[in-house]
Amino acid sequence: MSTLVIAKFMKQYGVNNIVFSSSATVYGDPDIVPLTEDCPLKETTNPYGATKAMMERILTDVQKACPQMSVTLLRYFNPIGAHETGLIGEDPKGIPNNLMPYIMKVATGELKELGIFGNDYPTKDGTGVRDYIHVVDLAKGHVLAIEKYAKPGVHICNLGTGKGYSVMEIHDAFERVNNIKIPYVIKDRRAGDIATCYANPTRAKEELGWVATRTLDDMCRDSWNFAKKHMK
Ligand code: UDP
Repeated sequence: MSTLVIAKFMKQYGVNNIVFSSSATVYGDPDIVPLTEDCPLKETTNPYGATKAMMERILTDVQKACPQMSVTLLRYFNPIGAHETGLIGEDPKGIPNNLMPYIMKVATGELKELGIFGNDYPTKDGTGVRDYIHVVDLAKGHVLAIEKYAKPGVHICNLGTGKGYSVMEIHDAFERVNNIKIPYVIKDRRAGDIATCYANPTRAKEELGWVATRTLDDMCRDSWNFAKKHMK
């Protein structure tokens, strides 16, 4: 459903609060990291990012037209992991585009090997660096945002841990935590990827009282726990 249709129905039914799942991709290829919410929104580097930037713009305009509304834009960094019970997680159809689902499908044996997109970035080991955040931490951020930002205005908040891990570090952590071999090959860079992206999560701490508490090891363990129960 388009954002404008949602806005129309919100008006019709007197709903004044909306929380939008935005993304760190709206910052484009950043000049500096860690990213604060005040960093400029540069040109997006891929179509996915363009849709997020567009939705942020539309919702910001809708809020201007309806000043009683609360519009919350949560800029997710890289959500991975699954619920600790292994009951809730993501099982993407076909060949995944994202790193952790791909690793999970290699771990189950559904896919042969991980392709690492480039090892010549200006990062610690040449592979891309991202701010991976456990989905349960992300969910808790939403609950707080719904409560704390339920007041008129546009509220923008990063949800990330503030730590950057490389693709190689994610690969190695998954192998170590779960004691599984994940074969990989180095491939060319993927078009539209940037070298490094991680958050400054200070605003989330100050305004929501939120900090991510789950570690990379937790993310790897919970991803595999879900995959072995539900995938393949
Ligand atoms: N990546 C990779 N192989 C894959 C999928 C992703 O090497 O099969 C890398 C990608 O180049 C990036 C990081 O993993 O550096 C995270 O990619 P993902 O698609 O999960 O999230 P993005 O940051 O692109 O939204």
